[in-house]
Amino acid sequence: MSNSVNENTKIVLGIERLSTLFRAALWDEAKQCGLSPLQVQIMLFIASHTQTLNNVSCLAKEFGITKATVSDAVRSLLGKKLLKKQSAGDARAFSLHLTTSGHKLVEKLGALTQYFDEALTAIPASERKKIWEGLLLLIGHLQKTGVIPLRMCFNCQHFSERKGAPYCNLLQQSLHLEHIRLDCPEHLLAA
Ligand code: SF4
Repeated sequence: MSNSVNENTKIVLGIERLSTLFRAALWDEAKQCGLSPLQVQIMLFIASHTQTLNNVSCLAKEFGITKATVSDAVRSLLGKKLLKKQSAGDARAFSLHLTTSGHKLVEKLGALTQYFDEALTAIPASERKKIWEGLLLLIGHLQKTGVIPLRMCFNCQHFSERKGAPYCNLLQQSLHLEHIRLDCPEHLLAA
């Protein structure tokens, strides 16, 4: 087995461990709120995205599951009065929004990132930057394969270069590493 294969295996295993930690936190939070993990993910997604993405089709694409599964979870959240529908113009199309109770619930879901927040805060800023650079590199490559849907600067119509540095034409600012977005609400997929 070559060194690069060994390294790849270790990196993938590391990501798998982190993902297990996140899933465990997700299950805990979901149980405490009386929701399923998918319902929690839907609530968090709707809280942080614009209404054009907050519909059953986009949610199914985002989570890589069927529309029927999303519809079931959404129906339950509507029944619990955590979400409400709003017409999106055509009679059958609608976007999903948080109700007041939904907003309150989302505020309580902060514990999901608590483990990571605490660990990252303990790491010096220069080392944190290296972690971010590594993540951007990996996610950028995955994005090219289309494996994960991302609204990221590197495939955005507004992304350009100015004086040899990445630049956002919409926000009119240089995109230093710390400004690169993985899930930008203004993202427009480049042709
Ligand atoms: S609009 Fe958002 S995703 Fe697009 S380049 Fe600007 S910051 Fe990046």
